Amino acid sequence: MASLAEPGLTLTRLPHPAPLPAAQREALIADPGFGKVFTDHMVSIDWSEEKGWHRAVIGARQPIALDPAAAVLHYAQEIFEGLKAYRLNDGTMALFRPEENARRFNDSARRLAMPELPEDVFVDAVTQLALTDADWFPKVDGGSLYLRPFMFASEAFLGVRPAKRYKFLVIASPAGNYFKSGAPAVSIWVSRDYTRAAPGGTGAAKCGGNYAASLVPQAEAIERGHDQVVFLDAAEHRWIEELGGMNLFFVFDDGSIVTPPLSGTILPGITRNSLMTLAQESGLTIREERYGIDQWKADAESGRLVETFACGTAAVVTPVGKVASHDGEFTIGSGGPGQLTSKLREQLVAIQRGTGEDRHGWVKRLG
Ligand SMILES: *Cc1c(COP(=O)(O)O)cnc(C)c1O
Repeated sequence: MASLAEPGLTLTRLPHPAPLPAAQREALIADPGFGKVFTDHMVSIDWSEEKGWHRAVIGARQPIALDPAAAVLHYAQEIFEGLKAYRLNDGTMALFRPEENARRFNDSARRLAMPELPEDVFVDAVTQLALTDADWFPKVDGGSLYLRPFMFASEAFLGVRPAKRYKFLVIASPAGNYFKSGAPAVSIWVSRDYTRAAPGGTGAAKCGGNYAASLVPQAEAIERGHDQVVFLDAAEHRWIEELGGMNLFFVFDDGSIVTPPLSGTILPGITRNSLMTLAQESGLTIREERYGIDQWKADAESGRLVETFACGTAAVVTPVGKVASHDGEFTIGSGGPGQLTSKLREQLVAIQRGTGEDRHGWVKRLG
């Protein structure tokens, strides 16, 4: 669907008539956790077949009225993004590669037969919301303002076809430091019974439906005492793909790194892409190559594989310490964070915090 927007579409500001009193806000952001606390405002833009994108507003965050026949409630036509506003060490707020989120949002939109949103409108929406609710930025060390842009089919119609009406919204949620002192290694469970994405499916799109299908295997991992589930490919149940919401990297004893290729069943992470760039610039060899579950176990046991880590916006870089499946368990390296994992994490965090050199213009200062 073509991206159609009113010329000069800009956000109309309708400030919250009664924002949360400062004392209550301060109490909420003192220890916000993740995804539980929300700011005063939201962005809302409508799309219809006749008008394209219109009625762009930044106003009070409030419930949205939906017709019970709204297509999203029946056929899950929904996509989302996730990015963080950081505070640089000089106090300025900044976004990390937001235009990459805008581009990926439109890739997801095309796969779900939804209208594209002009990239500049997307970036402006997340920027304006972060600035409007800057007071909600948590003052805790390593805190951030997590921004959640999303779009869903709002047309009331039960036939199966792309909807003719959509809503794009952005909400913001203060987030604490995911890991207060470095990232602890996680234990992951290999799902043999469930897959996340099949060739030709929606694995490369950031859509809610992928997450709905991952909840049972994720719950299985938790029940068995692990933190996360790792998915294998749907065709051979052999090749390692990714975690429920993070991409994977494997580090070998010769210093080289392997990450599964973007075959259409893996979400093309912006953190993944950024870490690949940083690793290459450090002179490391990085291969996008399929890596099998049996090989992973054999290499961990022989010592050829020395580290494994997962990455994504929420937790940045997370070391994997232990892997378990129906065939037993194996430990990676010492079971704790590896050297290269820590180094790459520090490099990326330094750029995001403005203490490391931003050679690629990844950091977008807000104001
Ligand atoms: C969002 C997401 C990632 C990580 O992407 P980033 O752009 O690095 O945050 C990885 N896998 C899945 C399934 C995701 O939804």
